[in-house]
Amino acid sequence: MTTPDAAAFLRIEGVSKTFGHFQAVKDVNLTVGKGEIFSLLGGSGCGKTTLLRMLAGFEEPTSGRIFLDGRDMAGVPPWERPVHMMFQSYAIFPHMTVEANVGYGLKHEKSWTKAQRAARVAEMLDLVQLTQFAKRKPHQISGGQRQRVALARALARQPKLLLLDEPLAALDKKLREHTQFELMSIQERTGVTFIVVTHDQEEAMTLSDRVAVMDKGEVKQIGSPTEIYEFPASKFVAGFIGSVNSFDATVTGREKPHLRLKVPALGIEVTARDVPGVVEGQKVTLAVRPEKIRLSKDRPEGGNAVQGHVKDLAYFGKDSLYRIRLGDTLIQAHAVNARRGDEGSRVADWDDAVWLAFDPASAIVLVE
Ligand code: ATP
Repeated sequence: MTTPDAAAFLRIEGVSKTFGHFQAVKDVNLTVGKGEIFSLLGGSGCGKTTLLRMLAGFEEPTSGRIFLDGRDMAGVPPWERPVHMMFQSYAIFPHMTVEANVGYGLKHEKSWTKAQRAARVAEMLDLVQLTQFAKRKPHQISGGQRQRVALARALARQPKLLLLDEPLAALDKKLREHTQFELMSIQERTGVTFIVVTHDQEEAMTLSDRVAVMDKGEVKQIGSPTEIYEFPASKFVAGFIGSVNSFDATVTGREKPHLRLKVPALGIEVTARDVPGVVEGQKVTLAVRPEKIRLSKDRPEGGNAVQGHVKDLAYFGKDSLYRIRLGDTLIQAHAVNARRGDEGSRVADWDDAVWLAFDPASAIVLVE
């Protein structure tokens, strides 16, 4: 059977998974293009691994269908799918050399000659830059290198789809950052479609062409990292990706191209990005990211501006995080320490009176 939309390389249609009475995945619909790095992002237990396991064929959906490259995957066993799953633990064999581990990825290719296998192993080791470590055992290489062995093994059979379960979780922070870029470069060179499961928002944002944010078995939003961050569709997504200041607000009117909102916690009327469908009098949430707030000692001209006092301040060197009190409300603002001179680089100090300003384009209105 072929998909109605052949352009979508992977198509997940109305997929749900129930374990007993518990619904782990709820009516997921999404498509992934060929060669994309697509992430499933969400907290523990949101169903992302279950969805990944259904793609691999380790679980069958309770309802819904999965099409890969035009083929319905229903009833297709894992070993017959053009899919490879790279586990969090990497599952590489400690007693085998690096090259034997990579060669193990070809165990199902019964028709391959010895020379063909050797050539593919060499090609994969070159791809992940481990040629010089071919004869070593896993305990003789670093964690990052072990991750690359697992990747080389996973890619050896040239899967159409590579599923990566928390691919960087076993690495320390510094190595993780470096490895993220390596993964992206290897993906680019091979053109294989990657589906990455992660609970780490930074990892998803850096690696992915698009991200699906999941909560309680449901996909809450799908978009590019920029779309998800700049245009969150709900309070959940806004809060899950990055930090955000949220305020209760009421729509007071429309001033094209903006909305006007009454925001009691700020004591001002705010001009915000318009959202189709909202009406005057509607209760909404105003969300503003900390780094979108400009701080100044002097009153800024125009725009959304309020004055508060610095309650707390965390100095990180290149930037600072401020918590600013405004009546009973605490607002977070993130500012680069770019000022030079004897006064120090910070915009403001503890207890200073300071103005906060943000553009209408940075004022996100959420209805959900
Ligand atoms: P984590 O990041 O912690 O791995 P996750 O988002 O990958 O979480 P899943 O492993 O997909 O979450 O699990 C989703 C929910 O389904 C969890 O509540 C889990 O306990 C439940 N679950 C998963 N597999 C089974 C199973 N075989 N039997 C019963 N419940 C299961």
